[in-house]
Amino acid sequence: MGWVMSHPSLRLQAFRFVDVLPSLSSRDAIAGHLAEYLGEVDGSPGVVRLVERIVAAGPRPARRLVAGLARWGAARMARTFIAGADLEDVLATTGRLRRRGWASALDCLGEVVVSDDEADRHLAEYEQVIRRLAPELAGWPERTVIDRDGRGPMPRLSLAVKLSSLSGRFRPIDRDGTTADVISRLRPLLRTAREAGAQVYVDMENHAVKDLVLHVVCTLLEEPEFRDWPHVGVALQAYLSDGDRDLDRLLNWVRRRGTPIWVRLVKGAYWDFETITATASGWPVPVYPQKWQSDAAFERMAERLMQRSEWLRPALGSHNLRSLSRGIACAEAYDVPEGDWEIQVLYGMADSLAERLVAAGHRVRVYAPYGDWLPGMAYLVRRLLENTSNESFLRMGAAAGADPADLLRPPGPGDEDHEQEGARLTTAEETTMRFANEPLSDFSRDDSRESMRVALEVVDAGLGRDWPVEVAGRPLQGPPLVSENPSDTSEVVGTVPRATVEDAEAAVSTAAAAVKDWAKRGVEHRADCLRRAAELMRRKRFELAGWMILESGKPWAEADADVAEAIDFCEYYADGAVEMSGGLRLDVPGETNWYGYRPRGVVSVIAPWNFPLAIPVGMTTAAVVTGNTVVLKPAEQSSVIAVQLVEILHEAGVPPEVLQLVPGIGEELGPVLVGHPEVSMIAFTGSREVGLAINRQAAEVVAGGRGVRRVIAEMGGKNAIIVDDDADLDVAVTGVLGSAFGYAGQKCSACSRVIVLESIHEAFVERLIEGTRSLVVGRARDPATTVGPVIDAESRKRIEEAADAGRQTARELLAVDVGALGEIGHFVGPRVFVDVASDDPLAQRELFGPVLSVLKSSDLSEAIEMSNGTEYALTGGIFSRSPKSLERARRELAVGNLYLNREITGALVGRHPFGGFRFSGIGSKAGGPDYLGQFVVPVHVAENTLRQGFTVDERVEGSGGA
Ligand code: NAD
Repeated sequence: MGWVMSHPSLRLQAFRFVDVLPSLSSRDAIAGHLAEYLGEVDGSPGVVRLVERIVAAGPRPARRLVAGLARWGAARMARTFIAGADLEDVLATTGRLRRRGWASALDCLGEVVVSDDEADRHLAEYEQVIRRLAPELAGWPERTVIDRDGRGPMPRLSLAVKLSSLSGRFRPIDRDGTTADVISRLRPLLRTAREAGAQVYVDMENHAVKDLVLHVVCTLLEEPEFRDWPHVGVALQAYLSDGDRDLDRLLNWVRRRGTPIWVRLVKGAYWDFETITATASGWPVPVYPQKWQSDAAFERMAERLMQRSEWLRPALGSHNLRSLSRGIACAEAYDVPEGDWEIQVLYGMADSLAERLVAAGHRVRVYAPYGDWLPGMAYLVRRLLENTSNESFLRMGAAAGADPADLLRPPGPGDEDHEQEGARLTTAEETTMRFANEPLSDFSRDDSRESMRVALEVVDAGLGRDWPVEVAGRPLQGPPLVSENPSDTSEVVGTVPRATVEDAEAAVSTAAAAVKDWAKRGVEHRADCLRRAAELMRRKRFELAGWMILESGKPWAEADADVAEAIDFCEYYADGAVEMSGGLRLDVPGETNWYGYRPRGVVSVIAPWNFPLAIPVGMTTAAVVTGNTVVLKPAEQSSVIAVQLVEILHEAGVPPEVLQLVPGIGEELGPVLVGHPEVSMIAFTGSREVGLAINRQAAEVVAGGRGVRRVIAEMGGKNAIIVDDDADLDVAVTGVLGSAFGYAGQKCSACSRVIVLESIHEAFVERLIEGTRSLVVGRARDPATTVGPVIDAESRKRIEEAADAGRQTARELLAVDVGALGEIGHFVGPRVFVDVASDDPLAQRELFGPVLSVLKSSDLSEAIEMSNGTEYALTGGIFSRSPKSLERARRELAVGNLYLNREITGALVGRHPFGGFRFSGIGSKAGGPDYLGQFVVPVHVAENTLRQGFTVDERVEGSGGA
């Protein structure tokens, strides 16, 4: 194993192999995966090549033999790091540890919890451990060092608990709801522990849930029942830059509470994860960039704990000699009695260190994971992969002859591992991303949640007002379009006057008259308008999101992402227009050549309601920045937000005649906006039926027309995710749930079909159903909501009728009851159909609601065929751990946007240019490098500069270029 670990590429493939192993049911599958992974090892040693050749192309018995050996090896490795597969094993291990003078803390390994049922099962499991082991341990002979502290006997059983395993909806955005849900299980667990005389440690997970974890712990431990209970602990991570502050806050809190708790101080195991996810999200990285800083923080925090050990009882979790030595020295310096603090190490990783510490009279607690060997190993491997600091230390310490002076050197600049990682991330970012996406709001932060709450109050105060609109310099007088809140139809969001056909005609004429001037303004001026608009939206981002929450029924995070995308479109297209404006010069002696672009003229923008800010902003800004003028018709259901986006663009400097809003009914205004002779282009996003009708009408030649109209139409999808037989179910189930039911399935990119390979079908469906049942259906303004309402009564009726029809041909396994919500708003409970045939209307027609069809396939080829078997080609995805399957998906899946091992929604401007083909779209991808090119006509100017005896040295500029 040491040999494998010393070869970085081999080590990574070994981890990947162990990770997938539990899901491989046959030796042939094991051999196949081994071959694929070993094939990716760079510069592998000869013996590895030999093994690869055998598993890839050797005779079947030889392949199966190697597969069997590999599984045996992994199980052996599992036994090194996992304390036991079941309670009897764990009991035996605990006994063995005690005989060596070591205490233990048991950590139950398990899958990610996606449902209430799974959370209930975890609770039951924790309780079973306590009930089975605590009395047993109580009967064993006492070992003073581990069984007593300065105040008396200590619990002999210690259990580590992850709060995310005690809730099917562990979401920091919903702090109070999650706290209540977790406490409903944590309370009985602590009760059981207290009664049985056991100790409970609450583990720390990733940074996004840190404040939530601390909040839950503090809330519950203040209850009278637990206020005087000292046998509970919480973990703090020193690699977080807010670690010192959290420690002080905890100290203040525990003093108020009046009873001490234990603090397990660790450096933290998710450094890579935290760094990568924060960098990718554009959020401040919460961990120290350099390893020595985490080491120094550990020492600082350990000292603080020793100073205040009467309140926060120190448990130093580290294998680092220097960190521990410093902690021990502090304990001595502050006279902390030996039993009042302890050291914790990981099972199987630091035995010789533990032995020496025990010999020196310290209490050492071994943090011991337990669970089925192979699945347990897979979970452990994921943690090991993250656990860079621990691992590097283990390897360094294990390297024979490491200089003790080096091992004990105080932390300071010079450690290179994390520095290099940080540098690598920055470089990748710089080279591939000039444009930076607007970061989404981090709703795990109190200030973000507070801003949204305040914004909703502001929006509430403005509800019901009439929003005036001017067209061609005159206020619209038409009857009002009444916008209602789909979460609560008794609430009028606002009214907007309806444009008539005559108004639309006047708007087009005004826009046509404005083209020349606007084109002359120059691209820099136009781009500046977009940049100012982005800034205005940034300043009002929570308020804009608030309007979408109420008018479009978007849950918080979805509404926030809509604003961020609108900002991105402004900035991305501003940069893009400037970049393309120079055109190309292709001069040769005696001739100048210029290739450049001109605006098309009047663009009719026709937008849908489901991205009520981002999509109209995207289409409109692309048109105006390239020198066109725009008549914008928003969807009827989202007129109020449309008025505000036009106000913002006007305020940013886009003149009123360059951008006019014509709110109204599509069928009425469509013929003018598409057929008017002065319209040069239609930019449409919406349903396939309307998109194709527009395309047909636009092709007609009308008297006085300005030529063939350009149509770009982003249309629907019937998107599928394939779940391969080796998929990681934790990731696949959460990915499918998010893709299918986010914004109640009303995204064009939403997953409405999941194609599952036969051998994994039952296990997947079981978890999918439990997960779906645990989604929170509610009003969009409630931060707990994961599934809000659908947009209107017509949508609800259409979805319910399709579900009724679906019951005749397929099996509806789940239809979540929305209860009283159904009377208040347009709610449709999430539904899951199974046994759906690939030609069933459920699997063919876009439903645009929270309805998911599960299709079963015998193998990957059939799954790909099913996925491609609709008229659409928008988004798609696959969950698989086989490099070969992923490669096939890349090559064969016919979709505009393909996602591997992740959700299939949430495309980001610039990073994931978005759009489909077949009947999903006409034109190029929004937020991509080719998009603006559709709004201009390319022109070329060649000039002969050769005269009689001399050359005219002038450069010809295109007039009014984009
Ligand atoms: P829709 O087609 O009903 O309406 C879209 C717009 O077209 C609205 O403004 C509507 O008033 C207008 N309209 C309706 N009839 C018209 C006509 N005869 N002439 C001209 N305009 C007309 O779509 P929707 O319900 O607003 O949006 C949902 C649809 O949009 C889904 O099919 C979804 O897949 C699709 N969509 C696609 C993308 C994409 O990028 N591919 C993005 C978002 C939404």
